[in-house]
Amino acid sequence: MTGKEQLNRYSNQTAADGAPPLPTISILAPVYNEEPVLRELYQRVQSVMDGTPYPWELVLVNDGSRDGSGEVIKALHEQDSRVKGLSFSRNFGFQVAVTAGLDHVQGAAVILADADLQDPPEVFPRMIEKWREGYDVVYGVRSSREGETWFKVLTAKLFYRLIYRITEVNIPLDTGDFRLMDRRVVNAVRRMPERNRFLRGMVPWVGFRQTGIPYERRARYAGESKFNSVRQMLPFAIDAITSFSYLPLQLATYMGFGLAGLSLLAILIVIALRLFAPSDPLLGQATTLVVVLFLGGVQLISLGIIGEYLGRIYDEVKGRPLYLIEEMWGFEEPRKVARHRERE
Ligand code: UDP
Ligand code: MG
Repeated sequence: MTGKEQLNRYSNQTAADGAPPLPTISILAPVYNEEPVLRELYQRVQSVMDGTPYPWELVLVNDGSRDGSGEVIKALHEQDSRVKGLSFSRNFGFQVAVTAGLDHVQGAAVILADADLQDPPEVFPRMIEKWREGYDVVYGVRSSREGETWFKVLTAKLFYRLIYRITEVNIPLDTGDFRLMDRRVVNAVRRMPERNRFLRGMVPWVGFRQTGIPYERRARYAGESKFNSVRQMLPFAIDAITSFSYLPLQLATYMGFGLAGLSLLAILIVIALRLFAPSDPLLGQATTLVVVLFLGGVQLISLGIIGEYLGRIYDEVKGRPLYLIEEMWGFEEPRKVARHRERE
């Protein structure tokens, strides 16, 4: 099967004049308390996508919003059946909302974008063009970030450089979640069963042909960012590190060797002092206390690191469903989710 034929399999348009129908493009946006932006999002997506020859759908995943986002999605669906929606039973978080969206989109390619219009729909046609050239993933590279605090920009910069150094997947720098993914990438990501999902790492991990295009990240259209404080960003950072790196676990080993080496040296010094120094300057109570406290600290940190991984293993073992859907608009019934461990 050629690439073209493969693309056509996902098209839902019938060819009128014998020309092969164009594949459907899905636009996927997770929604958490985004009521003031949704209509504008629909309008912008509609005007951009209707300007392309491709059939499209806009899939909105309502991640347990506490405002009227759900009702707006429902109204938009009734107004235009190309808008489809899922509503979770509660807030499950960004990564899970995107996962649910990927489980339900029907397009031959999916464009994942923020609902708040920070990732401008006007960039979609350029992404689609790259995809038609043969790329499987086209991610947006932020050439500038409007309306974000210096703190966020700085921590993001440091974080991605750290991740880049300590993990084996090469997460492209200055990219967010804004990207187009081909169906085979979507299917590959859907086969990854992990609960601690870090999509920015999982998509590069699957491979295939990936490329970036620069774009200007806009300020939010309305509402507030949900990832601004350290308290909101730290769990995300820890998930990212633990899903792709064992370095924190290895740190305990390295520290152990380092400290053991140091103590060998100390033993020699103490023996020398005992033999040759008249008084015993090293072995005061304070020295002992400091050494014991230091080692206690190192041990607790190591335990904590093991705990982080252990807790995640426990989460995996419990095997709870990743998300629960309360309502759907435009979908028949929950699609079977292949998120079980494949034992063969
Ligand atoms: N979001 C979500 N669930 C959450 C938090 C955020 O679905 O628990 C959505 C949110 O509605 C938005 C996207 O994820 O469409 C990115 O969130 P936000 O714009 O607040 O983050 P930022 O762009 O500031 O990093
Ligand atoms: Mg945003």
